[in-house]
Amino acid sequence: MILPEAYATLKSPKAMETGFRQLPSVDKLLSDERLRMLESDYSRSLVLSATRETLEEFREAIAQGNPPPTVAGLVDAVIERAKAIGDASLVPVINATGVILHTNLGRAPLSDETLAAMELASRGYNNLEYDLATGKRGSRQDHIESVLCRLTGAEAALVVNNNASGVLLGLTALARRREVITSRGQAVEIGGSFRIPDVMRQSGAKLVEVGTTNCTYSRDYEQAITPRTAALLRVHSSNFKIVGFTQEVALEELSILAREHGLLLLDDLGSGCLLDTAKYGLAYEPTAQESVAAGVDLAFFSGDKLLGGPQAGLILGKKDPIAKLRKHPLARAVRIDKVRLAGLAATLLHYLKDEAEAKIPIWQMISLSLIEVERRARAWSSQLDGMATVVQGESVVGGGSLPGSTLPTRLLAIKAPEKGRDRGAVQRMARELRLHRPAVIGRIEGHALLLDPRTVPCEDDLVVIAALRQAVRVHLLS
Ligand SMILES: *Cc1c(COP(=O)(O)O)cnc(C)c1O
Repeated sequence: MILPEAYATLKSPKAMETGFRQLPSVDKLLSDERLRMLESDYSRSLVLSATRETLEEFREAIAQGNPPPTVAGLVDAVIERAKAIGDASLVPVINATGVILHTNLGRAPLSDETLAAMELASRGYNNLEYDLATGKRGSRQDHIESVLCRLTGAEAALVVNNNASGVLLGLTALARRREVITSRGQAVEIGGSFRIPDVMRQSGAKLVEVGTTNCTYSRDYEQAITPRTAALLRVHSSNFKIVGFTQEVALEELSILAREHGLLLLDDLGSGCLLDTAKYGLAYEPTAQESVAAGVDLAFFSGDKLLGGPQAGLILGKKDPIAKLRKHPLARAVRIDKVRLAGLAATLLHYLKDEAEAKIPIWQMISLSLIEVERRARAWSSQLDGMATVVQGESVVGGGSLPGSTLPTRLLAIKAPEKGRDRGAVQRMARELRLHRPAVIGRIEGHALLLDPRTVPCEDDLVVIAALRQAVRVHLLS
């Protein structure tokens, strides 16, 4: 197809005609030796589609005034397109960004025990909803509720697909057509698509914002209570920090207020940590245990943030509201699958056995000593022919946890040579590393590409070094 606007850019209609004629037919192209081999890797129909699409693409390019490709060039393009169609596009990435919970890179990597449990659960059948003692139907929640209660002191617990669905389920089941009071400073957006006002609207509950952006007092909540009020909602501002003149009401105080007025207290913890982050030199992050102790009716948090497990939404709370959530029709729509349920149970066992720091990858990364990070950065640097240095920097927890709180780290810094320094070389090198398999992701600051060993498992060191050597050779030393 020739686009009308393309005529303007043509050298001449005649050149274009000649260009079209030089393109081989689909059949001719398919008879190429390399494409015949490609058929055995994929399928005849996939290679046929790739061939047709590639020829169409070049026809358009010729119509735009580009010269026709060689047959070898066409075959290369068909192979690339067949791979793009037939190969998995979700591939492993080595995260050298220093952001421990990187939502775009899949949040928490999992412990060996968690992975083993997930494999076991997916390979065969299991007693997901089957009581082996009685031979009767059971609940998938039974596999996880008691360990969650034991760890946190909660009366009851429920696990769903993710935290967003947990909050939606909670608000829908308990506050639909009623009012929910939240501090104005907590009507927040977490990432692109989770906004408290939107989730509230979707649940059918009416959001009543009280206080101001920076200060909310107990009396603000109290004055907003009406006969239509169902709950008070506390939302942990996971991904930003208000500093200076600020005031929020403590959870304990909200709990007393809720009880006095016969209201529910709901707590969206976001990350929902079980360990004391201050012990690791990080800022304070509210824990699930504290929410339970403060007497919240329901606390919601993610499985794949600071818990370090698979994607899940954990809901802790009192027996009665948890029972209401379980019975609500939406619970079925947001239920957790058997594989992640098994993984979550295995991750929680690490906490029960007091081995979270030793076994859960994100806690290993958080607790990794500066000496060890520096040793690894120097080991990487020593392999790069003097093109890299080791500099001071900071790792962050990320994933909507601990905003503004960082861990001191050591970074490998690769800079373009001083003479004729071009920022483009660093950009091209970063791109090459992204296209490497496994992809290696760093961050660019100024004229340097920075890589943080903290978020890279030791067993990947050799892969990282090989990828870096190649990228440096192609883009900086050539
Ligand atoms: C991250 C977060 C969510 C969303 O959790 P998901 O597990 O990503 O669905 C909701 N609320 C808060 C406060 C969060 O930090």
